[in-house]
Amino acid sequence: MSVLGIDLRASTKKPSAVAILGSDLKSILLGSFYEDIDLAKVVKQERPQLIAIGAPLNLPLGFCCLDKSCGCKFAVPNRKGRLLELELAKMGISCFYTSKGSIMKDLIYRAIRIRNGLELAGYNVIEVYPHATKILLFGDSVPPKHSLASVSYMKDHLVPLVSCINDYAGGLDIYACEAIINAYTGQLHINSETDVLGDPREGVLVLPQLPN
Ligand SMILES: [Zn+2]
Repeated sequence: MSVLGIDLRASTKKPSAVAILGSDLKSILLGSFYEDIDLAKVVKQERPQLIAIGAPLNLPLGFCCLDKSCGCKFAVPNRKGRLLELELAKMGISCFYTSKGSIMKDLIYRAIRIRNGLELAGYNVIEVYPHATKILLFGDSVPPKHSLASVSYMKDHLVPLVSCINDYAGGLDIYACEAIINAYTGQLHINSETDVLGDPREGVLVLPQLPN
């Protein structure tokens, strides 16, 4: 029972990282893809039980797009993002709101396109948020993804969870680390060690179990 974790990039010209993590957390395959079709090939070959993507996989309720010129708007008044994003903010976990004019528009469109394709092919896909997973698993002092300290921080904290990444430790970059933490969140989900935030009508976020 493997989980395929993806750290998705907005552009197909930059490699998106994938990590395929076995259920015993003792085997891992790392790789990357450029075009969506290349991801489809990896998925077809590996047949993961679950696919965990670290990007928004749905638009807010009432939205048909993220274009400012379109008249679609939040179905719930006074919203500035999806419910799961408001809930994250309430927990003190920063995130980008999925809204008109989002700087992540290209990434979100790509993530939704990939989710649709994978679900059509019969795969289970979940939305994860590596920054939130890290805060819940490791505590508040998580360095920002693109900071210098991030890769060594992630290696130090991932190895105790997923010891098999030791074989790769020298070559891990931050994108691979994010794909691994996404796959790990997926394995927690299979083991019922997760909670979800948000409204299923506009997509939920899967997180490690919240403290009571
Ligand atoms: Zn629209």
